[in-house]
Amino acid sequence: MQYSEIMIRYGELSTKGKNRMRFINKLKRNIQDVLSVYPQVKVTADRDRGHVFLNGSDYHPVAESLKQIFGIQAFSPVYKLEKDMPILRQAVQEIMTGLYHEGLTFKVSSKRSDHKFELDSRELNQDLGSAVFDVLPNIQAQMKKPDITLKVEIRDEAAYISYEEIKGAGGLPVGTAGKGMLMLSGGIDSPVAGYLALKRGVDIEAVHFASPPYTSPGALKKAQDLTRKLTKFGGNIQFIEVPFTEIQEEIKAKAPEAYLMTLTRRFMMRITDRIRQERHGLVIINGESLGQVASQTLESMQAINAVTTTPVIRPVVTMDKLEIIDIAEKINTFEISIQPFEDCCTIFAPDRPKTNPKIKNVEQYEARLDVEGLVERSVAGIKVSQITPDDSADAVNQLIDDLL
Ligand code: ATP
Ligand code: MG
Repeated sequence: MQYSEIMIRYGELSTKGKNRMRFINKLKRNIQDVLSVYPQVKVTADRDRGHVFLNGSDYHPVAESLKQIFGIQAFSPVYKLEKDMPILRQAVQEIMTGLYHEGLTFKVSSKRSDHKFELDSRELNQDLGSAVFDVLPNIQAQMKKPDITLKVEIRDEAAYISYEEIKGAGGLPVGTAGKGMLMLSGGIDSPVAGYLALKRGVDIEAVHFASPPYTSPGALKKAQDLTRKLTKFGGNIQFIEVPFTEIQEEIKAKAPEAYLMTLTRRFMMRITDRIRQERHGLVIINGESLGQVASQTLESMQAINAVTTTPVIRPVVTMDKLEIIDIAEKINTFEISIQPFEDCCTIFAPDRPKTNPKIKNVEQYEARLDVEGLVERSVAGIKVSQITPDDSADAVNQLIDDLL
């Protein structure tokens, strides 16, 4: 027997009053984006439930994808069957035989919304329950907290059976909180920061600074691959490549070594903010974590943050490296992040960056540069592309997991 559809229970959004339909439609589109790798699958959503129609697609990879999408509380795979008692009896027998082990308890819980159907819900419970006993005489029926509750629903168009409820990712549907620009390096921290922002419904666009030829195409691809991993939680993400070579060369030529890092970061912040403004984002998100490196002292943060009044969200700021790595492993970004491609900051990084930069000095060094011109040229040269989910690699991994 094959599952025909998956029924989706919404998460926290049920508390959002009149915005409810907006939330639901957003979630529907996110699910459609994420499941676009399965062309047969169709997604619909009404006020109370979402429905994923498999149309012959394999259930398991689709379920794996659903588990990651923010805004889903739980989901249940469902068999759609003809409204015919012999067929329904055979179905419950088959399901329970597949699940049976000694001591297993069950009950049948039927609902009949098609009132013309020959049996009412009480009769259905009895009839289908005894069909199970026919093939499994030692199974125990139990009304209170059984191991398995077989839910049978007789609707106008067909009968539906389900017995499993799988926990979803929770969180809020991506996009329901508005948009933020994620400063995405190729490192471990910023993808995790992006994931945590997505979890609370923030739609992210990934902003990546590249300094060719100092940075390789491999470093760029790494950032794109990380972005692709993040699409699993809520759908497509815009990837913005920012040309940064000229700025890094200018800073290197004109500012003292100890201040390279601070100046570089201030430019990144200014440019990200400019892009945010043009693309109607509300906040900036980055992967700064307090105390990890010289750029991440509170003094540094203050000097870097001074170029904008836009809120900067730092989801991993108080986490230990190991806590961040735990999440990176869970969301499958860790393996990509540790690929050895130098990004623009490692290449231009001074040996001893200033850990307590003084704004007065920073401003004095910046006066030697054409800050506005550099920012404008960089912003004018951005390349925007859309990153969509690609499940091929994960589908294969899942298959291997299933076989083991
Ligand atoms: P990550 O692991 O995210 O690279 P990190 O610990 O290496 O972080 P830094 O190198 O100080 O820390 O970078 C701090 C933050 O600045 C990053 O988390 C990221 O948000 C942003 N950032 C750094 N380099 C880039 C880049 N090339 N493109 C976009 N954002 C960047
Ligand atoms: Mg880094």
